[in-house]
Amino acid sequence: MALKDMNFPLRIKINDKLSLLSRTSLFVSVFLMGTGGLIMISWIFDMRDMLSLIPFGATMKFNTALLFSLLGGRIYQFFFTAKKIEIISVIILGIALPTLAAYIFDFDLVLDNIFVTDTLTPANSFPGRMSPATAFSFSLLAAYFPFRSREIKGAFYLLLVVFLISLISFLSYLLQLGLNQRVFFIASMAIHTSIFFMTASLVLQLSAEDSIFSLVIWGKLKGARFFWKLIPLLIILPIFMSYCFLYAIHKEIISPEFAIVNYTVIFIFFGLVYSFILAKNLNREDAMQIELLEGLENQNTKLDHFKKGLDQIAMISKTDPYGRITYANQTFCEISKYLESELVGANHNIVNSGHHDKAFFHDLWTTIKNGKVWIGEIKNKAKDGSFYWTQTAIIPFMDHHGKIEEYLSIRSDITQKKMEELEEKAEAEEMKYKNKELEQFTYISSHDLQEPLNTMTNMTKLMVKNYASQLDEDGKKILHYTSEASKRMSNLVKALLEYNLLGKNRGVSDIEVGDLLNDLKLDIQDKLTSTNTQLKIDPMPDILGFPTELKLLFQNLILNGIKFQRPGVKPQIYISAERSEDFWTFKVADNGIGIKEDHQHRIFQIFQRLHNRENYDGSGIGLSQCKKIVEMHGGKIWVTSTLGEGSTFLFTIPDQIPRSVEQMSKS
Ligand code: ADP
Repeated sequence: MALKDMNFPLRIKINDKLSLLSRTSLFVSVFLMGTGGLIMISWIFDMRDMLSLIPFGATMKFNTALLFSLLGGRIYQFFFTAKKIEIISVIILGIALPTLAAYIFDFDLVLDNIFVTDTLTPANSFPGRMSPATAFSFSLLAAYFPFRSREIKGAFYLLLVVFLISLISFLSYLLQLGLNQRVFFIASMAIHTSIFFMTASLVLQLSAEDSIFSLVIWGKLKGARFFWKLIPLLIILPIFMSYCFLYAIHKEIISPEFAIVNYTVIFIFFGLVYSFILAKNLNREDAMQIELLEGLENQNTKLDHFKKGLDQIAMISKTDPYGRITYANQTFCEISKYLESELVGANHNIVNSGHHDKAFFHDLWTTIKNGKVWIGEIKNKAKDGSFYWTQTAIIPFMDHHGKIEEYLSIRSDITQKKMEELEEKAEAEEMKYKNKELEQFTYISSHDLQEPLNTMTNMTKLMVKNYASQLDEDGKKILHYTSEASKRMSNLVKALLEYNLLGKNRGVSDIEVGDLLNDLKLDIQDKLTSTNTQLKIDPMPDILGFPTELKLLFQNLILNGIKFQRPGVKPQIYISAERSEDFWTFKVADNGIGIKEDHQHRIFQIFQRLHNRENYDGSGIGLSQCKKIVEMHGGKIWVTSTLGEGSTFLFTIPDQIPRSVEQMSKS
């Protein structure tokens, strides 16, 4: 993976106080600058203890101290300033490389004693000159910075080499090897030089998340875990044993030969035991992994079957993050009438019908780009220009960084269903339009009829008052009929107007039906008393509805129950309510004349009456009002009746008022 794809800052911000590495880097850079300076001062003032730290050990040369100060500065600059000036690296290289060259080509180097003269080192050990390992390590460290800034992966190997050189040098001090027992290359590297190099190379490695050390030390993969487990065997055990054996040899307790043989035997023994334990654990992990893989293969087979099945019935396509089709199955090709070769590589717009607006696609893209599944209906255009509808699910797939990798679309052809739906919708629209027109017509006619009717009624009244005495009996009868007819017509028109206005500009609210019926009872008390009616009301529920209309509904049913009473029988009306899953069924039962089964469906139509006015007065509008009110609530009304025994009117009121009705009532 390219470095630029990794999501971490190359430089640690100075204000990121929480970062341990940031603080460590700051400490190391200041420490190197400070101690480098201190050692340079020690050279100037001849403070010998500071120069070699251990008696007769190699001294840290002036140039080495100078380069450490510069290295400290460079580390500071690398972590805490954005500048990419390589001047410090150039100076370090300017001193380290000539020193190396002097060793290789064996010439005197003026640089060695240019700042102070080294009188401590014997003449045959190159006084004033840093060890070749030191010069080499500085060259590598100086080269590290420009390499790293250019994101060259090999940069970390430079640090690794520096770390290994300084580690070997440090270990030789730890095991107290004499100068003559060491490799010449590192022989004169001072102990503090070794420690400084180890620290600097470690900090630089560990602060870069993608460095070899970081991946092994901070990493969570098998390799990293294995590395940590090997540390006791590879580092702690050898150091401990070397220390013990060397001590015993120095004290002449054992001979070097004995030490070597025992060292080998003990190391092999512990090495084998430890490796055996590690291997056992690794085997167990591997076995688990194999089991997982087998499970995965099994799952893959299942998925494969699933895919094959899906391929048969659904249109499947895949697109890259930019909307380009990368895969289209046979069903997709068949329905879109494109060849696979025409679809693959093309943008998904190829099937765009132009039916949906920008907002539709904006919503679609926002959903899937946010990693969510989009589900909806899309109208697409086939190659031959025909349209088809699909029920579509678009599923985004992310890579392990959470970036969208591709989209999978699964579509089913719903053209048939959609066409039927559209037809139904068109029919409903037409119906709505016709109803609206009818409503308007009824309103206008009833409203406009009102005025001439009023004139007619008034004129007939005047006629009766002023001219009745001048008419003979027939004339009076005719005048009476005319007057009655105009009154009836006026009532009819009023009722029609009322019917039309039902539910208009009224809001839906919570209704305590019990209270509503008690109010109604008071309103019609006179009627109940004069007809000697017995009205029984069961406990009633609370519902959601249009209160005025519901009152009118109950009123019409109760008054009908009283009106259509058998002669000589005391009217009895019983109101009850029954709960179903999501609606209430109300019943208004009477003991009246009853309705023939054949006529039961007619009575809810407007102006439909089963009796003449002489027997039962009325306009034939009451039950049609009831029907309209119940339907406004999304319910149904019907009647069950036995002729000569009584009728029961039943209607339902759902818990939820249809939204369309609610909106219409406000329009
Ligand atoms: P109106 O009561 O003004 O005639 P309605 O629309 O209320 O008009 O009723 C229509 C017809 O239904 C009535 O004329 C009557 O024949 C019949 N009807 C209504 N309610 C009852 C009832 N409770 N019992 C018997 N017949 C009824």
